[in-house]
Amino acid sequence: MLVGQKYPKLFSPLDLGFAKLKNRALMGSMHTGLEEAENGFVRQAAFFAERARNGVGMIITGGIPPNVEASGHGVKLSTPGEAEQHRVITQAVHAADADVKICLQILHSGPLARTPDCVAPSAVKSRIGAFVPRELDEAGIEKQIADFANCAALARSAGYDGVEIIGSAGYLISTFLVEKTNRRTDRWGGSFENRMRFPVEVIRRVRAAVGPDFILIFRISAMDMLEGGLAWNEVVALGKAVVAAGVNIVSTHFCWHEAFVPTIATMVPRAAFTQVTGRLRKELGVPMITSNRINMPQVAEDVLARGDADIVSMARPMLADPEIVRKAAEGREDEINTCIACNQACLDHTFSGRMVSCLVNPRACHETELTCGMVAAPKRIAVVGAGPAGLAFATTAAERGHKVTLFEAGNEIGGQFNLARRIPGKEEFDETLRYFRRMIAVRGVDLRLDTRVDADALKAGGFDEVIVATGIEPRVPDIEGIDHPKVVGYIDAILGRRQIGRKVAVMGAGGIGFDVAELITHAGISAALDIDVFAREWGIDFTNHPRGGVTGVKPQVASSGREVYLMQRKTDAPGRTLGRTTGWTHRLALQRRGVQMVSGVDYLKIDDAGLHTRVNGEPRLFDVETVIVCAGQMSLRKLYDDLQARGVKASVIGGACEAAELDAKRAIDQATRLAAVI
Ligand code: FAD
Ligand code: NAP
Ligand code: SF4
Repeated sequence: MLVGQKYPKLFSPLDLGFAKLKNRALMGSMHTGLEEAENGFVRQAAFFAERARNGVGMIITGGIPPNVEASGHGVKLSTPGEAEQHRVITQAVHAADADVKICLQILHSGPLARTPDCVAPSAVKSRIGAFVPRELDEAGIEKQIADFANCAALARSAGYDGVEIIGSAGYLISTFLVEKTNRRTDRWGGSFENRMRFPVEVIRRVRAAVGPDFILIFRISAMDMLEGGLAWNEVVALGKAVVAAGVNIVSTHFCWHEAFVPTIATMVPRAAFTQVTGRLRKELGVPMITSNRINMPQVAEDVLARGDADIVSMARPMLADPEIVRKAAEGREDEINTCIACNQACLDHTFSGRMVSCLVNPRACHETELTCGMVAAPKRIAVVGAGPAGLAFATTAAERGHKVTLFEAGNEIGGQFNLARRIPGKEEFDETLRYFRRMIAVRGVDLRLDTRVDADALKAGGFDEVIVATGIEPRVPDIEGIDHPKVVGYIDAILGRRQIGRKVAVMGAGGIGFDVAELITHAGISAALDIDVFAREWGIDFTNHPRGGVTGVKPQVASSGREVYLMQRKTDAPGRTLGRTTGWTHRLALQRRGVQMVSGVDYLKIDDAGLHTRVNGEPRLFDVETVIVCAGQMSLRKLYDDLQARGVKASVIGGACEAAELDAKRAIDQATRLAAVI
């Protein structure tokens, strides 16, 4: 068993009486898309077993609906035949480590189910739901409860050690709890006692169906982050009631999916919400799970040491690095590939119906297909450019046994990630560079910094393969006055190499334009590094815990006082290309700092007077002191063309390959896939 001397709390067992957890590290539930995929059970088995082999104490599966109306994508667990299919998962996990527990999450999406047959206590459509749900009658409620119990019993028959029932986030159970979605006047609505009857009855019937020696976890909404959400005394009353009805472990959840408060994005401080779990833990007297932005072992240890929880859930961190627990136990935390909370390959994919993976670990959920075995005949490979693409390629190829030399023109690794990490709210990007720095050493990559190489030098080097990962250069739009002294490129702006005026036009409202606007309007400490600042900026009251955690608290955002215009030529609303689950946070944050978004801009010229434009056809002068250009990028692929001309075998990856719609997710994925087969 892994021991973990530096993290005594994290690696201490937890005795539930009838079952023992070997440590306090939980892989929280994530819907990955493997649930619906072809060969999905085998792929889930490989996905979970890899985490089980590497030390996690307990795993919770992605949410599985107990019936058709709870789902929308066809997957459910309501028959013995369906239960049989799950055996491959439970057997693989227990074969990987018999001490690891695996629980099935029962997810009834209620009004968020993607089916016109979706149900709810009242016919109230969610802001983010696809359909108006059908109001359940008494018989319908009884059917839903019976289906929960049936699903739990089937989970037990399939070899699971327990079930988690999700009672939060805007799914069925939580819609019974809150008045805005429960307008009933019968015994299932009205008073809080009536509104919590449904979850309590579900738990009572599930416990009766599975017997006493089966783990039963209830995910409670500790802070709905919603006007009209649960008051603190209601959260406590509900917690006590579900414990009395048979729950062994309570897991706290924060936020309905439709709320306007970020709870897991990279701008959220680490472990920002665990204090709420700690407060509830004092009331309930059962083991408690906490979660959200706990991405390194020391963070988990501190949470446990403070008494905020008994078990720490790390969901996305287990996508980013399946070995996170093992590395913590072995004192190799500097080798952890840390989740940077970008959501780009996980939650953004979930919400757009795509298979989940991870920006920093493209193998996540692709374990059976993207393998990186040792090579029989190692090659000498030159990699040019130590941005995300070059780094991912070099470290993966070296892991497979190749002899890799990595050339970087700059004096540090990282490429554009060195710019990204300077944006307030993106501090986590530092961790990726720390990881790659360490992997370069561990895997024996020969790193040559301050070395700009050309095709002749590479040809003379006699490498078996050359990988061109030279990235991009910023696009310089062809506008009169683009060389005026008030024009600044985004690289100079981010690195602080040029003075930025008080009145600024940001030309280009893509990801980088938004980041630059964030940087130049920011004041004070980054909210991502200070829970109090974060709470003020998003109107959360951790101290008094008003209804929903937020009601009546006005967000307060410090600003640099600059007057900033964020512009684009397109006529639609700026920010459409930002991440699906995080874009709104960036738009809202900039709006609160007074940044003015201007669409439909024709750039005419820049001169001493400012930026001359036509906005939706009307002439308009922006009398700004600085114009920051964030107008996209062009591939830097001259080196590749030169190599081709000299007959040197070369491949091109990342931004050098294709600049349009480039991001680090695509760069790392492409690089890893090439390194896996070369
Ligand atoms: P680059 O990162 O451009 O790296 C290329 C490297 O090659 C550079 O280090 C360069 O010095 C080196 N090089 C070039 N020519 C030579 C040569 N001849 N010899 C030796 N070395 C050479 N992406 C996301 O996915 N999510 C984000 O949130 C995000 N935020 C961003 C924020 C900002 C402010 C910026 C600027 C970018 C952001 N990106 C983000 C984009 C992401 O950083 C890029 O997509 C990614 O860095 C591209 O990787 P790359 O390796 O292809 O190229
Ligand atoms: P981008 O998202 O493609 O945005 C480029 C911007 O420049 C657009 O607003 C575009 O809008 C404008 N533009 C394009 N050509 C122009 C021209 N000739 N003259 C003036 N304006 C022009 O690219 P980016 O902002 O440079 O970001 C690069 C990549 O990094 C992005 O693809 C993104 O994925 C990634 N990134 C991601 C994040 C994130 O949070 N996920 C953050 C930063 C960067 P109009 O054509 O309408 O003017
Ligand atoms: Fe974490 Fe981003 Fe990977 Fe999701 S994609 S697991 S948020 S690093």
